[in-house]
Amino acid sequence: MADLQIHQFPCLSDNYGFLAHDADSGVTACIDTPEVGPILQALDATGWSLTHILNTHWHPDHAGGNLAIQEKTGCEIFGPLAEQERIPGIERALGDGDVFDLGGHEVRVFDVPGHTAGHIAYWLPADGVAFVGDTLFALGCGRLFEGTAAQMWHSLQKLMALPPETRVYCAHEYTQANARFALSVDPRNAELVARAEAIDAARDQGEPTVPTTLGLELRTNPFLRAEARSLQETLGLVGADPVEVFAETRARKDRF
Ligand code: ZN
Ligand code: FE
Repeated sequence: MADLQIHQFPCLSDNYGFLAHDADSGVTACIDTPEVGPILQALDATGWSLTHILNTHWHPDHAGGNLAIQEKTGCEIFGPLAEQERIPGIERALGDGDVFDLGGHEVRVFDVPGHTAGHIAYWLPADGVAFVGDTLFALGCGRLFEGTAAQMWHSLQKLMALPPETRVYCAHEYTQANARFALSVDPRNAELVARAEAIDAARDQGEPTVPTTLGLELRTNPFLRAEARSLQETLGLVGADPVEVFAETRARKDRF
């Protein structure tokens, strides 16, 4: 088993595609299939042969390229059990607690409902890497299209329990807009203020802000900080239940 190599590239207007590769086994997984052309180009550029697609949820900017990519590469498609009928080509359906081997790398699956009802996340503990789809973003979280705030808070708590050094691969580059909102609800968080400046500088240079780390998100992402006094004060919810604080944060972001 070699170190996991991750190749990240832009797709569509603000998605990221990811290839995860183990050089010893030759295994290569594509996490979601936002756009066929850039994924095939990334395979060409790296010289890696695709063996797996790992889907996080059914949205077309995550599973829309499945069949075209499979036709070109003959890869196997893994994805969420609860969205099996909505995702083209799933051969292995995965749910909470499932563990599988990816070229010698252990992958653990979490159900993280909220953005969609069957959304899953992938954690590679030995590699310190998580692929979280549209559940957790740098300074944000997914919109609640098919779940409640309580469900999403519970889902986020599973991710919050991972080691803080975990590198978190989110599916979209939304960070600059998320930072503006985060500052509106947590303006006295000095690390957030500094991070927002660093994000502006990175985006000015055209650099990605993904991956992030869980520890950085725990300290600066308002959607993970329902228990933080500074955030509760801005929202007028001091001492409130974290689900209520999270729900209010999400509602405010939806109107922002
Ligand atoms: Zn989505
Ligand atoms: Fe998406």
